[in-house]
Amino acid sequence: MQKNIQLPVEHLPYFEAIGRAGDALQVPTYVVGGYVRDLLLGRTVKDIDIVCVGNGIGLAKKSAQAFPTATTVTVFHTFGTAMFRVGDVEIEFVGARKESYQADSRKPAVENGTLADDQIRRDFSINAMAICLNSEHFGELIDPFDGIGDLEKGIIRTPTDADITFSDDPLRMLRAIRFATQLNFVLEEKTYAAIINNRQRLHIISAERIHTELNKIIAAPCPSIGFKYLFDTRLLHEFFPELAAMQGIAVRNGVAHKDNFYHTLEVLDNIAPLTDNLWLRWAALLHDIAKPLTKRFEEEHQSWTFHSHEFVGMKVAQQIFKRLKLPLGDELKFVQKMIGLHQRPMMLTKDTITDSAVRRILFDAGEDIEALMTLCHADITSKKEWRVKKYIEDYAYLKERMTEIEAKDQLRNWQPPISGEIIMETFQIKPSRQVGIVKDAIREAILDGIIPNDYQIAYDFMLQKGQEIGLTVHTTHHS
Ligand code: ATP
Ligand code: MG
Repeated sequence: MQKNIQLPVEHLPYFEAIGRAGDALQVPTYVVGGYVRDLLLGRTVKDIDIVCVGNGIGLAKKSAQAFPTATTVTVFHTFGTAMFRVGDVEIEFVGARKESYQADSRKPAVENGTLADDQIRRDFSINAMAICLNSEHFGELIDPFDGIGDLEKGIIRTPTDADITFSDDPLRMLRAIRFATQLNFVLEEKTYAAIINNRQRLHIISAERIHTELNKIIAAPCPSIGFKYLFDTRLLHEFFPELAAMQGIAVRNGVAHKDNFYHTLEVLDNIAPLTDNLWLRWAALLHDIAKPLTKRFEEEHQSWTFHSHEFVGMKVAQQIFKRLKLPLGDELKFVQKMIGLHQRPMMLTKDTITDSAVRRILFDAGEDIEALMTLCHADITSKKEWRVKKYIEDYAYLKERMTEIEAKDQLRNWQPPISGEIIMETFQIKPSRQVGIVKDAIREAILDGIIPNDYQIAYDFMLQKGQEIGLTVHTTHHS
């Protein structure tokens, strides 16, 4: 049965003009793929993909003439595609193509094809729908694989043999799981089974493409959907073995520890509504990553411990970021900082909270203190109501104390008042270990509340400390 789709009014002038350009060139012209899928789902649509049975570049040039405000047409000759922007939409054009694959590459040999050829090469039934734009058939949906039915059922399914689809281009396995996560869909049975079969083919995919899909899963409203699929299909073991290794519970003398994989997924789901910061979400994913490496059973207390997992975790995070070619600058540093500090607020609340302990965490977390507290909140996954209540109260009290001490001491982005230069000048020494000793002593004394955060007092403290370690004063100017 022929189904007509109402195209959104805000894009209607574009579609009509493109359709007329197609009429003039006598090429069948369609809007295709993600745009059609998202339109039918009622999601906001950003980019428009146009496919035509003919020359895509020619159609792009002809279409652009209809818009006085369009940017110039950018042509990608190697791909046979062209695009331009008009308003805030990006419109991409391509000629319908037929593809054939070689085993060692996800780049197919391409030749011109029919619309049907073009639809069957697409990854999922829901991504293979097209809407005609030529005036005679304007708005007609062409849906050869019942994408509409799958949208209604909430199913991710390949148009043809899933094994071939995934073997041809293994990136599609990650895309399947990514779409399931973003849309809260399930993987159809054969599609799921084919991922299990083809998981080792992922090795021909670049780290950049893998992390792009992974980041989209992490950025979704409920990331655990994706990570459960990745784990269950064992795709996760192929590119992220450290995370897969977190699954499981060890029991010794009847004492069990929690499953750190599922705990981590809960933390990630918990943090999703609290922040869109991708790197804070990464920190949630990696906060316990070194637990498998640091796990010990302590006979004396008959309990499981994970000593220093936060510090080992910082190293593991770096290895993971390197391997997946994620950014190794500020993003990694932030993730490492969160991992390194994630135990601290909890430890604090176990004791009487002293001013110096609060000062210390404010100093160490600096401008990332809110992010750290967000992570700690998300890390509460106890099923015992009284315990959850206690954690929340403890953190509320800690935050109160932080606000108090922050107002008093202003430790955010604080730097100790005596610099290394002043120390070197005063004692006439070169950069050396001694400079560090004196500098650290001053910082510690202020954080511990032994001396106030005051230049003159810190200066005197420096003189005293320097003399203690055998330095002699050469200048005594005080500013
Ligand atoms: P989003 O832009 O939200 O990631 P999308 O569906 O638009 O979703 P794109 O990567 O922009 O995804 O691709 C556009 C269309 O191209 C898809 O809808 C699909 O039809 C097709 N496509 C993209 N990548 C592949 C692939 N690896 N294999 C087969 N078809 C693909
Ligand atoms: Mg897209």
